[in-house]
Amino acid sequence: MLDVYRLLAGRAGTPDALELAQELTDWHDTMVRHERVQTALGTVCVSDDCPHAEARDLWRRALSILGPAAEELKFLRGSAGGAQVAASGGAR
Ligand SMILES: [Zn+2]
Repeated sequence: MLDVYRLLAGRAGTPDALELAQELTDWHDTMVRHERVQTALGTVCVSDDCPHAEARDLWRRALSILGPAAEELKFLRGSAGGAQVAASGGAR
């Protein structure tokens, strides 16, 4: 599962992409733990200092470094958008 980061980076073949892949791999583990805790507690994070905020930053960088191929990073994209969706609340 983590290999998708290295796969895309290898395809792009730039130093930026390889560096991003390493950061994404580290972020992925942190994010999975973060979500597990939230699910266990039944809470929604409101902090700006959490892997969700990092996801938004990484997602922007992935788009600029990998281009349209970044769309394949579904977990990252979902995590980047998830916090905003949760924060906006609204209709249920
Ligand atoms: Zn969070």
